[in-house]
This record gives sequence, C-alpha cells and structure tokens, in this order.
Amino acid sequence: MLEKIVIANRGEIALRILRACREMGIKTVAIHSEADRDLKHVRLADESVCIGPAASAASYLNIPAVLSAAEITDAVAIHPGYGFLSENADFADRVEKSGFIFIGPRAETIEIMGDKVSAIKAMKESGVPCVPGSDGIIDDDMVRNKRLANEIGYPVIIKATAGGGGRGMRVVRSEAELESSIALTQTEAKNAFGNGDVYLEKFLERPRHIEIQIIADTHGNVIHLCERDCSTQRRNQKVIEEAPAPGITPELREKIGAQCVAACKRISYRGAGTFEFLFQDDEFFFIEMNTRVQVEHPVTEMITGVDIVKEQLRIAAGEKLTYTQDDVSIWGHSIECRINAEDPENFMPSPGTITLYHPAGGPGIRMDTHIYEGYKVPPYYDSMIGKLIAHGENRDAALARMRNALSELVIEGIKTNIPLHIDMLTDQGFCEGGINIHYLEKKLGID
Ligand code: ADP
Repeated sequence: MLEKIVIANRGEIALRILRACREMGIKTVAIHSEADRDLKHVRLADESVCIGPAASAASYLNIPAVLSAAEITDAVAIHPGYGFLSENADFADRVEKSGFIFIGPRAETIEIMGDKVSAIKAMKESGVPCVPGSDGIIDDDMVRNKRLANEIGYPVIIKATAGGGGRGMRVVRSEAELESSIALTQTEAKNAFGNGDVYLEKFLERPRHIEIQIIADTHGNVIHLCERDCSTQRRNQKVIEEAPAPGITPELREKIGAQCVAACKRISYRGAGTFEFLFQDDEFFFIEMNTRVQVEHPVTEMITGVDIVKEQLRIAAGEKLTYTQDDVSIWGHSIECRINAEDPENFMPSPGTITLYHPAGGPGIRMDTHIYEGYKVPPYYDSMIGKLIAHGENRDAALARMRNALSELVIEGIKTNIPLHIDMLTDQGFCEGGINIHYLEKKLGID
C-alpha cells in the first residue's frame, strides 16, 4: 500500500480523503494556504505544510509549491481531489515525472478528455452515444456551417472545445443568428480559455443530467457503479444529486454502463471517472468525462457500498479492484444536498464565522463537511461548506430522511442555502422525480 500521500486540496474533500487514508493506514500530508490553517483535516493530518498565501493561484494551484511539499515530506503519491489541479494534465505529468504517483488517470487521458472535441471523438470511436453535431471544430466556412446546422436541425449550440464550468457556449435558434453566434463564441473562448476553437451540436431542450460512475484498475479491470441524476442545477452548478436516477430501467442502466466500461478499456483508463450525459426521450448523449472523484460520489457509495476514495488509493498502489461487476448491486436510494455558504435569496457568497453548528443525524444520514463551531469560512474559495446525504430503502424513504435532516441541521453565523433545499424537498415536481435541468431555474424565476 501507499506509505504516505499529499492531499492537494482543501475543505470537505480533503477531510474525506484523509479519513480514507486513516482507515487504510496511509500517512497523510495536508497542504494548505495561509488562510486555511484552521481546516479540520490540517489538524488531523500526520504532517502539514503551508504552501502559500490565500489566493488559490499562489497556493492550491501552485504546482512547484505542491511538488516541493511532496518532496520535503517524502510522500509517494498526490491525491488532487476535485477542482484545483485535479484535471490539469500538465500537473499530472509533472507529478509522475518528479517520481510521485498521481492518484488519477494518466496525463494523456486527462489531456484528451480536457478537450471536448477530442473527448467526443474518443467516445464515438468507442461506441458511446454522443449528441449529433459537427464531429470536430468548425471554421468560418459559413456555407458548410449553415448546411450542417440545417441537417442537425435548430436549435443548435456552439461550444468552445476548451470550455468548462458552463462557460463558452451559445444557443442558436435560427440561421439568421448562426454567423454572429459562431464569431462571438470564438472571440469569447479565445479571451477566456486562450483557445478560440468551437464546435456545433444539437441543443436538447429539456434534458436530464445523468452520469455514470466508473472505476478502473491498472490490470485491465473496469466496472461501473450505476448512475447518478444531477438535474437539479442552477447556472450549470449542481445543487442536489441522487442515485439511482428515477425511472432508469435496469436494461437502460446495463446498456449505458457497459458502453462506458468498454470505452474505458479502449482508452486504458485508470482510476475513478465519470461519464456525463444529457438524457432525453430515453436516450443518452455524452457531453463530457470528468477524470477525478466528483463532489456527488457519496450517493453512489451509499447505494452500492463501494468506497470510491479507498478504491482510488488501492488502484494508485497498483492493486486490483476489490469488486467485479457482478458484485455491484443497488440497495435503496440516496440523495445529496450541497450546503453552500450563500444567501438563499440572491446566491451571494456568505463567508464568516460559524457561531453555532448542530449536525443532522439518525439512521441513513451522512454529513461530509469540514466545518465546526467557531470555524471561519474564508471568502477566497468555493462557497460549498458541506454535503448532507440521506439514504433509505427507497426514494420516498430517502426523501423523508432528508427532510428530517434538513430540519435538524443548524448552521448559524453565516447564511446558507438550507432554506432552498427545504423548499425543493417539498416541491411536487422534484418529489415525483425525473425533473429536467431547467426545472430549478424556472422555479426560481431565472430564464
Ligand atoms: P462544462 O464543461 O462547461 O460543464 P458541458 O459540456 O458539461 O460543459 O455542458 C454544461 C451544461 O450545458 C450541461 O449540463 C447542459 O446543461 C448544457 N448543455 C451542454 N450541451 C448541451 C446540448 N447539446 N443541449 C442542451 N444543453 C446543453
């Protein structure tokens, strides 16, 4: 097993990784910014290293500082968590070239999946269903572009191949807007991502967001851990996730799961990963692959019993997967609410000191968070301060437990989005299940 690893992240995911390491007897090094000395996992880690000032660019995104921390502590591997450097191919490459194990896929895989056009190409070649589109970058040949858009049928969406975080895309509803929309998206993409390449695909009007979790070891074993439904979103940010996805039949699950597994085998994927799909009219359409552990991984853990972070660590140590596909079955239903330090009315971040904290509890309740009474939520990072997860024998039981848990959870001193979750958990459409990705924004009155 790995002897000692650097946890190159902060907040709840750093604590989640630390807990997995402690269970497995792996020593931990917490790296943190000057603003994060009081993080819970920093206190619990075997060693800690301050790697720079509060600004992420100078600390959590500072590759030489992260590598130096690994060097001076004699760590053997680096776990990037999610966000920050987790999907940075250059980082993964430099980690391995410096003699450490990167707990994630090979740098080449991250690079292919980081570019949407090359990711779609790889997926198509592997038999994964994709959104009908331009099959590559489009140029300024407007005769060709118009013909393409007509063949696909309006509305279409122009997307930046280097885009991310829901930025760098534009919906086009008629031929009259096509030329100016392409030019605008190209310019925006060049400014935002330093790469102006764009492509075109069919715009789906009312899709759900459903994703497949996979894990792959270095011995050629790949399994999928079923799907998650992450359709409750605001501004392309997930708010509530659940597993399994309401209404997905075992046949649909098996088919899409097998396609994802086949794709992983074809690209020699390593580690945990997620295939994100839009799902409409009983069809899956691949949009992107995330080559890291996801925020919402706990709902999958709750229904399958597989500890995804521990599997990541075992895979990195060169071990075989603990499970075969036949070992994986779904028990019950699980829902996760992302708890953010933000104003529930206007969604503005609400940093500050937590003056009172009472976690929720009881059967089937899990709270993944680094907060404690007296903890000061810094203003420099993502506003998510924890995840409340409920599990029950079926969806109704999980919903009932989540309602209870939300009513028990007390976080004072800062504003949180708990009221929004309470509202959603009694919303008729949400409770029926199967809402599409626009549902929450419509409910909030956002276009
Ligand atoms: P990012 O990397 O920025 O997250 P994605 O390709 O994952 O970009 O798309 C983000 C979101 O944009 C999707 O979850 C979906 O809401 C919307 N979207 C992207 N492509 C389409 C499409 N073809 N039709 C409808 N909505 C889309």
